[in-house]
Amino acid sequence: MILFVRDSLESVVGVPEIVGYIFSFLFGAVIGSFLNVVIHRVPNEESIVFPNSACPKCGSGIKAYDNIPILSWLALRGKCRNCKEPISPRYPAVEFLTALLYLAVYWQIGFGGFLPIALVFVSTILALIFIDSEHMILPNVITYPLLGFAVLVRVIFPSFFAGMYISDLNSWPISQFNGLHPIIQSVLGALLGALVGGGFLWAVGELWKRLRGVEAMGLGDVKMMAAVGALLGWRLTLLSTFLGAFSGALVGVVMIARQKDRDLQTQIPFGIFLGIGSIVALIFGDRLIAWYLTTFIQY
Ligand SMILES: [Zn+2]
Repeated sequence: MILFVRDSLESVVGVPEIVGYIFSFLFGAVIGSFLNVVIHRVPNEESIVFPNSACPKCGSGIKAYDNIPILSWLALRGKCRNCKEPISPRYPAVEFLTALLYLAVYWQIGFGGFLPIALVFVSTILALIFIDSEHMILPNVITYPLLGFAVLVRVIFPSFFAGMYISDLNSWPISQFNGLHPIIQSVLGALLGALVGGGFLWAVGELWKRLRGVEAMGLGDVKMMAAVGALLGWRLTLLSTFLGAFSGALVGVVMIARQKDRDLQTQIPFGIFLGIGSIVALIFGDRLIAWYLTTFIQY
């Protein structure tokens, strides 16, 4: 079992480690602010660059000093400066959540080459989670580029997946191809991961469709998990799917139990839970698997 070494900001550039934590939190809040724009505009097929943000009620443009992540919403007490219309707490919530996740990613992954990759992954999944919760869709304009990004990273940085950050290439069955060029091995790992991530969900959806005659799983979930699989490899993707199914089922049972007419066909945006599972798997996955194997299987 290989556990990677975490490079701290202190060990790499000699700046106190606390600076890394503060910076990742602040950077996360700023990116969260951009994710709000993505979450709000992509499902409506609007540009994420133009025009500048405006109040949905009165249309007045939002000034730079009213656009400071988290703080502006608090200073304005959640109301538009111009018309006093309430601003959804979703905006500061997304910013705060992104900031916390950036902090968690930095804490676990450290100041190394995988850091920007992990941050792009987490940000994209976050956008998908919030779009799915609001619109029940996972747009192709986000899932396809995520898949492309994953394959690109696999090709350029095979060593990241050979135990440096993710131990996909050292694990069965990809470890069987150790004789091949690392890039080919890395791409094989991506392919297997995409097949496991997308294929598993697709099979569950097909089975459900045959048994109950209803569409249970959108193809968006399949595409998202294929992209997750391409980056994280089959082990962490199975973990993501397991975490997603488990948490989704728990919430589903509670939701159905609280309903009056016990309609079992309640639609639950499953992408939310798969997304949460993927983020947990990226940040803690290899450690979770190592802990599970040593605790329960005496590996
Ligand atoms: Zn307004």
